[in-house]
Amino acid sequence: MATFGVPRRKILVPEPRSRFLLVRCPNCGNRMVVFSHATFPVRCLFCNTPLVKPTGGKAKILGIIEKVLG
Ligand SMILES: [Zn+2]
Repeated sequence: MATFGVPRRKILVPEPRSRFLLVRCPNCGNRMVVFSHATFPVRCLFCNTPLVKPTGGKAKILGIIEKVLG
């Protein structure tokens, strides 16, 4: 099968779609909406527990993911 005109792209990092997540603080139970690809750390507003840790790609979620939005 010929694939003329179809550019071949190497996918280096399969990037999952970015989403908003409803994350619950494991310490005090406060819920916050965070971005799944956050490039900055997110802390709980009430107790300062780190909830999201940026990794350069998909952020690491340290809190409890309650719901995936969108
Ligand atoms: Zn908290």
